[in-house]
Amino acid sequence: MSDKTNKPCRRVAVLQQRIVKAQKELKQIQDECPHPKETLDKKFGGNTDNYDPHSDSYWVTLHCGVCDRGWVVYSDDPEYRRYR
Ligand SMILES: [Zn+2]
Repeated sequence: MSDKTNKPCRRVAVLQQRIVKAQKELKQIQDECPHPKETLDKKFGGNTDNYDPHSDSYWVTLHCGVCDRGWVVYSDDPEYRRYR
């Protein structure tokens, strides 16, 4: 066996580089996306049956129809008001 056995072949290395590059590009597009309100898919969630009501929490799961990013905003985040 040659010492190449533990190294990915050239083709794999090229593909992995492309994936890294594509992920960077995707991240840049998502970072720059204004996530227009009208394209946002919102799913509201809540956890309100706690014995101690102070433990109750609300959140919204958002998904942007433009850049395909998904994220969650909790009600204690000032940003939450924007999505109600
Ligand atoms: Zn977006």
